[in-house]
Amino acid sequence: MSATPQMLPNSKQTATPMEISNSALLEGYRPENHGSAWQQDLKQAIRTPGELCERLGLDPEVGNHAASEQFPVVVPESFLKRMKFGDPGDPLLRQVLPVVEENVSVPEFVGDPVGDLSARTEKGLLQKYRGRALLIVNGVCAIHCRYCFRREYPYLEEPKSLEDWQPALDAVAADHSLSEVILSGGDPLMMTDARLAQLIGRIAEINHIQRIRIHSRLPIVLPSRVDQPLIDVISGTRLQTVFVVHANHPAELVNDCADALRRLVQSGIPTLNQAVLLRGINDSVESLELLCKRCVNLGVMPYYLHQLDRVSGAAHFEVPVEQGQRLIEQLRERLPGYAVPKYVQEIVGEPSKTPLL
Ligand SMILES: *Cc1c(COP(=O)(O)O)cnc(C)c1O
Ligand code: SF4
Repeated sequence: MSATPQMLPNSKQTATPMEISNSALLEGYRPENHGSAWQQDLKQAIRTPGELCERLGLDPEVGNHAASEQFPVVVPESFLKRMKFGDPGDPLLRQVLPVVEENVSVPEFVGDPVGDLSARTEKGLLQKYRGRALLIVNGVCAIHCRYCFRREYPYLEEPKSLEDWQPALDAVAADHSLSEVILSGGDPLMMTDARLAQLIGRIAEINHIQRIRIHSRLPIVLPSRVDQPLIDVISGTRLQTVFVVHANHPAELVNDCADALRRLVQSGIPTLNQAVLLRGINDSVESLELLCKRCVNLGVMPYYLHQLDRVSGAAHFEVPVEQGQRLIEQLRERLPGYAVPKYVQEIVGEPSKTPLL
């Protein structure tokens, strides 16, 4: 079982007329919306290490082509534009460029480090914590992060159509202890607005569900995704929406990305950021401090700083826990309390993410 997130489809996803008529939320939906700017931006994403290096004026030898065969390179133009030309150590580049270290096998770094497969109660449904359940809504992302803990998740086994979701939705409906559904993936915002509206509509039909949480990196890596039709979908439900984005370095939070986050926040959707502590990328107090400051200046509240999950191929990104703890202590001395994220680790079998301080 080593299916990796699928390559992005080159043709745009389209909802059938049947799917469209299924949801009242889709009034106002027009087929011409399919040629959205974000879908165009996605098609133009960079998909080879060679092209990535070339665009940055780097020797193609700095990228490792073998590693990209197992987990392909995908980098949208907007993210590339925030990298420094000619700098092989650029913190954004390092998150996406395959390197030889990925092929080094380290014993504790495994395929499913966070026990996702044993938490799968139905196809596409993960339940680890009380009160909330997580839906793996798809297996595609607009970017491939080399440290991704789900890089080996068997996405191909998960539901594809809305009918396939029925067992997972039935399980959520049957469990009255749940009040929140988390849409995750892959990236849930890789779905068209039509499909997203349908899924949210189905979840909103379950009376005991009060909140929907969207875990997405798209506002950061493909900011054009945050357009008015999307905001209409996520604010057009009776459910309270909470948005959790994923930025690791302050250089991500500029230009079109900052604008996208402002649009989200100004539309009234509570927005949080989670980051992963990554060696050579954000393992300094200066970069974490600026990351948190840029977040709060945009109205995005720092939520978690995750200790790296030990997924195979990512050992070179690990920062020792003691160093992470020192970094958080230093952040506390430099930032208001609300701007300091919780430093946590996911430990299999624990009833929540585990605080590391
Ligand atoms: C991380 C995670 C959550 C969310 O945990 P919070 O602490 O509420 O952010 C929920 N379900 C699963 C399966 C998770 O891995
Ligand atoms: S966006 Fe998230 S799920 Fe997708 S590759 Fe990056 S870390 Fe993994």
